[in-house]
Amino acid sequence: MKRVSLKEAIKFHGHLGPYLVLGILAGELGLEKLKAKKYFGLDVSVWGADHKPRSCLIDGLQLSTGSTYGKGNIKKLQGNRIKIVFNNNDCGKITLTLKDELINNLNALKRHADSEALARKLFKAAASGLFNLKTNT
Ligand SMILES: [Zn+2]
Repeated sequence: MKRVSLKEAIKFHGHLGPYLVLGILAGELGLEKLKAKKYFGLDVSVWGADHKPRSCLIDGLQLSTGSTYGKGNIKKLQGNRIKIVFNNNDCGKITLTLKDELINNLNALKRHADSEALARKLFKAAASGLFNLKTNT
């Protein structure tokens, strides 16, 4: 599967930030783990991304999974912590949350340049080191 590039992501979203990148990585992991097809294969539910910058996550998820508001296969729910549930009706669900170390790094960001630098670093990171993954079959 061809990855979403940072260039495509910035063109769609308008700027580069860590939550946008996390949305891309989470979505790619969801498709891979559930062997789902892009655009129609997954229903995505996102908690804890009500406000910027955390809500940028949702654009990353739409880009990578192809689940969109227009098609109704992604939805945003209220919560204190970020949680993403991917549901492939054919073969189950997985739940992703952010690892504590990542949350600390995100919360420590102050300057715009630091956010961009972290975004670029995360884009090259292995998703397994960033997310806690729970399988609910
Ligand atoms: Zn953003």
